[in-house]
Amino acid sequence: MSAKLIISNWKNHPESLAQAREILESVDDYLGSLDEIKEFSLVFCPPFIFIEEVAKILETSHLKHESFLGVQNIAIDDRAALTGEISGNMLAKLGVNYVIVGHSERRWKLGESDEMVNKKIKSALNCELTPIVCIGEKIRDGGYQEFIENQINQTFKNLTADEVGKCVIAYEPVWAISTNPNAKPDTPKNALESINRINNLLIENFKLEVENLPKVLYGGSVNSSNVADFFKNDQIGGVLIGSASIDKEEFIKILQKI
Ligand code: PEP
Repeated sequence: MSAKLIISNWKNHPESLAQAREILESVDDYLGSLDEIKEFSLVFCPPFIFIEEVAKILETSHLKHESFLGVQNIAIDDRAALTGEISGNMLAKLGVNYVIVGHSERRWKLGESDEMVNKKIKSALNCELTPIVCIGEKIRDGGYQEFIENQINQTFKNLTADEVGKCVIAYEPVWAISTNPNAKPDTPKNALESINRINNLLIENFKLEVENLPKVLYGGSVNSSNVADFFKNDQIGGVLIGSASIDKEEFIKILQKI
């Protein structure tokens, strides 16, 4: 498997470009202090208003070798007139490589349907962007595996094995995301069970070969005390980090643990 991914989802933070710079500068300083290059790739997904500046910063020094630019949303269609949206073509021109689609906050708070997420995946792939597709149950009850199966089937509907293989999947149980009430991280054992299940569904329902399976990451309350437990498992392709990715001290501690 190629390098594991550490995806920073900054959501609608930080408040200023100066603060965004500080986060990136501390990562740059940390990477510069290492004797050897770490075996992971960083993907920073800032809010749209910081994209151009972050792209310039990522082009500098140590970040250039180990990091990629991502965004948190994409228009469902790269040609149609869509007020307020940003199309894949525009993103590709800015040097964006990754796009988060189907994040639970968009699915549950903004009413984004599986059908819309499916269109966003297609639009990203059309523009040669890698979709980071978020999948995860809202509650862990007796029906959660069925929920995941249905979400996978609808989200990837009509995509070919080749297209699904070009995505990255983030398994993010909604209840584990730190901003939700009573959130706590999933256990690495349970997360792995869901990740294996996702892989099996892709093999059975979308005819992927084992060697073409996409990376499946874990996301939900990842911090410096638990990141190593998720990261050490070969079947977990990396982590997607929300809150801890905009806390510069905590984010460096995370990088130190892996
Ligand atoms: C997220 O919002 O995708 C996420 C994983 O957040 P957190 O790390 O804060 O739980």
